[in-house]
Amino acid sequence: MDIKITKTTAPKAKPAKGDKLGFGHIFTDHMFMMNYTEGKGWHDARIVPYGNISLDPSAMVFHYGQEMFEGLKAYRGENDKIYLFRPDMNAKRANASNERLCIPEIPEEMFVEAVKAVVDIDRDWVPSDEGTSLYIRPFVIATDEFLGVAPSKTYLFIVILSPSGAYYESGLAPVGIWIEDEYVRAVKGGMGFAKTGGNYAASLIAQVKAHDSGYSQVLWLDGVERKYIEEVGAMNIMFKINGKVVTPALNGSILPGITRNSILHVCRSWGYEVEERRISVEELVAAAKDGSLEEVWGTGTAAVVSPVGKLRYMDDVMTIGDGGIGELTQKLYDELTGIQWGKREDPYGWRIEVK
Ligand SMILES: *Cc1c(COP(=O)(O)O)cnc(C)c1O
Repeated sequence: MDIKITKTTAPKAKPAKGDKLGFGHIFTDHMFMMNYTEGKGWHDARIVPYGNISLDPSAMVFHYGQEMFEGLKAYRGENDKIYLFRPDMNAKRANASNERLCIPEIPEEMFVEAVKAVVDIDRDWVPSDEGTSLYIRPFVIATDEFLGVAPSKTYLFIVILSPSGAYYESGLAPVGIWIEDEYVRAVKGGMGFAKTGGNYAASLIAQVKAHDSGYSQVLWLDGVERKYIEEVGAMNIMFKINGKVVTPALNGSILPGITRNSILHVCRSWGYEVEERRISVEELVAAAKDGSLEEVWGTGTAAVVSPVGKLRYMDDVMTIGDGGIGELTQKLYDELTGIQWGKREDPYGWRIEVK
């Protein structure tokens, strides 16, 4: 792919070592952009100074939500090496989302090359404090100037970068999770497996409700019976029950997390029995009561592995173990973050250097 590069003439001040970065507030000097036009395909790949984009108010994305996004990170390792974690998986998933949303396919190599190229240009923006990273947000929007309901014939693919702080500023810490019994996020046949804004728009109301009740995240139940466990806001969920690792199977309404896939692979390679299946909320409540629910954790790019100390379902508030961080949860966190930041061997071949 031929990428035309226009460097900024007014570089911004980068955050200093020790600065609080938070998440998603700060953006780097450059962004990648590429257009799609029906009959012409993807064209005009370019890296330009980060800044506003201009769209007609009738651009289709504003009205019918034809949009796809991805999320991954770049990590600064020893000797200032910059790493990505399984970016090929993001490229594959982007196309699974694209297909569902009638957005044209982006060739996988093109997607990965775009991400590498813009990260490379802004590599000095990858922060170096413990646990920090450069969050990468590739996305596609429908840009036809048209109010009819149909797939757009033109699109914009953009990759922006945001230096982000450690998810757990004072070390890994357990969270409380609200099992939502009123609203649902997705149904089979819908777009739950796609990474698209609409799924998040549908989730906000329950998120607000959970926050108001003192819980940090929502755990969704299936959209039909409200009986089976699906996933957390932006994380997949896993349980250790009687020594086995159990997680909801990918059924079409759950987002197929790359962290989920990686953690299950690590668990299997460590000799754990792993079950991907339906898990009812009753099974969970019963396992919490009889003591067989040993650990609960979420998996996602942002937190990597997030220990769950407390689960609430209607009138039941379940404390997991002693409410602290489970032993396997901690081991999985250490293994995956060790690989991502280049501190551990990578027997799986997941870490990709940006050179
Ligand atoms: C992105 C996302 C996840 C986690 O996926 P990762 O690839 O592990 O980051 C889980 N659930 C939802 C709804 C998501 O959008």
